[in-house]
Formats: sequence, structure tokens, C-alpha cells
Amino acid sequence: MSLKPLLPGAMTERGHQMTLGVMGGGQLGRMFVQAAQAMGYFTAVLDPDPASPAGLVSQFHIQTLYDDQDGLAQLMQRCAAITTEFENVSAPALATLGAQRPVAPSAQCVATAQDRVQEKANFVQCAPKSGVYPAPYAAIDTEALLEAVPADLLPGILKTARMGYDGKGQVRVSTREELVAAWEQLGKVPCVLEKLLPLKAEYSVIVARAASGEVVSFPVQKNTHRDGILAVTEVHDEVITPALAERARAATVALAEHMQYVGVLCVEYFVVDDGKGSEDLVVNEMAPRPHNSGHYTQDACDMSQFEAQVRTLARLPLHTPRQYGPAIMINLLGDLWFDPNADRAQASDTPVDPPWDKVLGLPDVHLHLYGKLSARRGRKMGHVNIVGTSLASTRETAAKVLALLGLPPLP
Ligand code: ATP
Ligand code: MG
Repeated sequence: MSLKPLLPGAMTERGHQMTLGVMGGGQLGRMFVQAAQAMGYFTAVLDPDPASPAGLVSQFHIQTLYDDQDGLAQLMQRCAAITTEFENVSAPALATLGAQRPVAPSAQCVATAQDRVQEKANFVQCAPKSGVYPAPYAAIDTEALLEAVPADLLPGILKTARMGYDGKGQVRVSTREELVAAWEQLGKVPCVLEKLLPLKAEYSVIVARAASGEVVSFPVQKNTHRDGILAVTEVHDEVITPALAERARAATVALAEHMQYVGVLCVEYFVVDDGKGSEDLVVNEMAPRPHNSGHYTQDACDMSQFEAQVRTLARLPLHTPRQYGPAIMINLLGDLWFDPNADRAQASDTPVDPPWDKVLGLPDVHLHLYGKLSARRGRKMGHVNIVGTSLASTRETAAKVLALLGLPPLP
């Protein structure tokens, strides 16, 4: 397919306003749509939910299932190019789209990312180039493989090969008996058992790779999880040594090149003690799309991860993103909409409005809410980006935001 850029605001050969499409209408789709619209594109979202966050703000919203042939045909008819906002969109649907329109990332890259067995095999294959390996693991999809698991993978974490996110579909196991019970509990679906590593820290790196092969990387992000869900991302010079940051960055670029990836790719890493007094980098998983840990780029960088997604899709030029100042991103989960003292089982557990008026009274604070019509505990509702001029002021403001929201202090 031609490498001509799809210029914003232009009319297509078929007389349509230049329109970019996205599979999925969640918050990532919404922020892609907002970035595309800011640049002058029209957008189309395919998501069955009439109240999906992206569907609510897009010019076009096709409300069918992701593999509905008529829905896919409508999306192709509307759009000059199509991306995805979540990795569980069916690879065959993306392949259907890819046969007639530029689709980035490709169905093949998404298929690799949506299956932990393929994903890990891909990491191992790329290791000579990337210099990083995944945690020791075994793929399990039969009783025989379950029994053959080597003892040194225990204690470990059993993860479903497909559809896991935010720590869902994972069970920690210490013994073979627990492993057998856990596989049963997960419905004996294909899984991987990963050795439980002593994590010192978690990081992620986002890169954007153009169809031309040009690739740029964002600064390395340090992530803190709570209950298996990302809670805080910090991006500044003190979160990682320059040497480790460069290793993680180079590994992510190598992975993107190895996969001939086009689009925005996020790769998660663990830092572990290598037992010899130094630190080692382990690759955990990848997301074939912008990532929660990259939301700070919206306010902290001269190109956000969503703008990078637009640029790679529309074949516009990339440049290395520049960060304006130290950044902290705080995730806003649905729990904030409920009185922490209320009895969950009682009617008193009705939603309350978090004190945004107080939060927005602080300098350097950027509030992003996803327009979800109802809050649920654990549901990602929004995030706050804090971008200051010094690390001290950024941390101080973040501490105030956390206190106002009743959240635990910074890690
Ligand atoms: P998400 O989609 O939110 O990134 P996920 O459900 O796909 O998460 P993982 O990233 O594989 O799951 O794991 C979630 C968290 O569990 C990790 O961020 C890490 O804190 C912990 N974890 C996962 N694998 C291991 C491991 N092998 N050793 C120690 N901790 C682990
Ligand atoms: Mg993860």
C-alpha cells in the first residue's frame, strides 16, 4: 500500500473528509479520537456499546460487534486507515480490514501480543537482539504439560494465555497441588506458568514506529501497581539509572524492529536482583497500542502517545518526543466515587463526587476523565497528570492530590 501521508483536513479520493478509524471505544480509543480530532481528522469508532467513551466523542460510531462483517464494511467505507485500542480485538477482523485499508498495528502483531505463549516465544526469539529475556516459564495446555512443569518454576504465577488484563486471570501458586487447583479454577484454558520473581521495580517503555521504519522512543516510565492495577507512573531522571534506561529503551526498539511493528508499542519490564549484587532487566509483556503508563505524555511531552498513534497511522513524520518536566500520573479508579467508610453491602454505598474543585486548585495539575457513565470499584475512570518545573514541586503537588483523594502516599 502507498506510503503517501493521509493529511488532516484533506478530502479523500471518494470525496470524504479524511477519517481515521479505531477498533474499540474505551478510554484509549477516546484519547486517540481526541488527539486525531485536535489535528483536524474525522474519526470513526467501532464498539457495540452505545455509551462507549470513544463513541460518545467520535463523529461516527458504528455500534456492532467487533467481528460483525457489516460493521467492518462500514468502518472501511468511512475510514482511510484503522487502528486498535485494545489487544483482544480479533486478529481475523483486523486482517479483513488490513486487506483493504492501512491497518496499524498489523493483525499479526496484535495476534502475537494477545496470546502470552506467542508473546513470550517472540521475546525469546528476539532476545539475541534485544538483550532481554522473559521470566522463566512453561506453556500449559494439557494435563501432561501440567505434570511436566519443572520444580524450579515454583513458586510461580499461573496466567491465562489470552484475555488477561489488570491482573485478572492470574493465580499465584506455591506447590504442585496449588498449581493443579489453579489450572482447574481457570477452566483448564491454555496458560503459562511463570516463575515468581523478586521485583525491585517495574518499568515500561513506549515506542512509535513508522511504516518507513523510523522509530522514536518516549522516556522510561516507572510504574507502581496496587491490587494488580497500575496506580502511579513516575517519569523523571531519578526513577532509573541512565544505563538501565538505555537498555530498556534499546530493547523496546529492537522488539519493534524484530516484529516490523507499525504504530505505538508499549513493553513492560521488571527489574530484579540478579543475586550477584547487580540489577537485571526482565521483559514482562507488551501492549500493541498506547498504554496507561504513557498517559503522562499528554501533558508532559511535545508529542503524546496518542498523537504518535495518529502520526504512525496517517504516515506523518515522527520526532523524538521531548519531555517538559518531571511527571507523575495518578490513576483514578471507580473506588474514588464511593465513600470509603460506607458499608459496601448497604444502600449507603452510593456514588459521591470526588473533590475535583480542590484538586484543580493546585498548579501543574491536568485532570482527564473518560466520560464513563457509571463508576464501579476498580474501574478506570480517569487520571491526573502532574507536570512541574522541579522534581520537588512535582512530588509535593502529587502528594497533595493523593491526600485530597484519600489515596495512599507516593511510593
Ligand atoms: P496489565 O494488563 O494491567 O499490565 P496483566 O493482567 O496483563 O496486567 P501482568 O502484567 O503479567 O498482568 O502482571 C500484573 C502484575 O503482576 C505485574 O505488573 C507484576 O506486578 C506482577 N507480576 C506479574 N508477573 C510476575 C512475575 N513473574 N513475578 C513477580 N511478579 C509478577
Ligand atoms: Mg502488565
